[in-house]
Amino acid sequence: MPLQLFDAMAREGFEEVVALSDAASGARALIALHDTHAGPAFGGIRRWTYEAENAALHDALRLSRAMSRKCALLELPAGGGKVVLLEEEGLDLEAAYRAIGRAVQRLAGRFYTGPDVNTGARELAWVHAETTYVTDPGPGGPGELSACTAEGVFQGIEAALATLDGEVDWPSRTVVVQGLGAVGALLATRLQGVGARVVASEADPERVHELARSLDVEMIESGEDLAHPCDVFAPCALGGILHDLSIERLQCRVVAGAANNPLSRSHHGELLHERGILFVPDFALNTGALVRGAMFHLEGQRVPVAQVGARVRTCVEAILEAALAEQRAPSVVGVQLADDRLAAGRA
Ligand code: NAD
Repeated sequence: MPLQLFDAMAREGFEEVVALSDAASGARALIALHDTHAGPAFGGIRRWTYEAENAALHDALRLSRAMSRKCALLELPAGGGKVVLLEEEGLDLEAAYRAIGRAVQRLAGRFYTGPDVNTGARELAWVHAETTYVTDPGPGGPGELSACTAEGVFQGIEAALATLDGEVDWPSRTVVVQGLGAVGALLATRLQGVGARVVASEADPERVHELARSLDVEMIESGEDLAHPCDVFAPCALGGILHDLSIERLQCRVVAGAANNPLSRSHHGELLHERGILFVPDFALNTGALVRGAMFHLEGQRVPVAQVGARVRTCVEAILEAALAEQRAPSVVGVQLADDRLAAGRA
């Protein structure tokens, strides 16, 4: 059913949606600002092929609201926004990103943008040519974003194990890392540094080859990672991997990784809870880069990686403590906590 824009905005508290149509580049993009009560909105640019305009709108709204929740959970003086750029034939990429840059500049600091799916250093440099309200991927920017994400995930995993067992004792733990990309490889190194046994999967053989010299972990096939017995399964590749069938196969006590939206549907968080598996919500755990970027833009400081991790850990501890007390799934408790904070901010 088509989304009724104003109804959806009113229901979920969205402030503004900018529809950009740039004839010169062919760019059609949506900038959704969910909530700027606590401070400017933050959110990356997603370039994607959508089957219909309505799907793009749905994505822009969903993703910007998710950013608001992340900011609220981390108690950042910031809110949620997002850009979706419709991937279409004939799109002049550089001109399209520059048009987005000009649109972001017109928002005059209400919104800061950055990387997301299909938007990396090259695209951000085009946006940066038109606006300063964008994450500079170069030396002038916040830097170490993947390291901040990896450290947040590491500290969040420690918090989860301490919640379950009262102690962590890394040398007795096995962590399966799915995906040795920018975050996964750093997480694996961090875990090895504290003596944990790391087992990993990586779908790209070239990446495995590239890492062979720097990272000495036990590799398994990417289809086998989910069912590998371990303490922690850390998804650091794609979203949507936890569904009815895969949850049945898990042989871990904790699921905690960097991947955005690993739950195929929100009720899968409850299914994990019913199976006795502690799921640390991704929207709290993978916020290290957001913390670093927002604090850099708003306060001009590069918060040290360890401090970023500690901030993520505090947030994870609060969610897990509440989940334990209420005997509810952490994914449900996390959303509730974020929405309560957003409502309080508006009030
Ligand atoms: P990346 O693209 O560098 O790494 C992902 C890796 O996973 C790639 O090497 C890819 O080959 C591998 N992969 C894909 N499918 C796989 C599979 N089925 N099995 C095993 N390996 C597979 O991405 P990244 O920056 O490391 O981010 C990882 C995840 O974390 C993504 O979901 C991303 O959205 C999320 N995330 C990243 C950051 C960040 O700071 N980079 C911040 C928040 C969230």
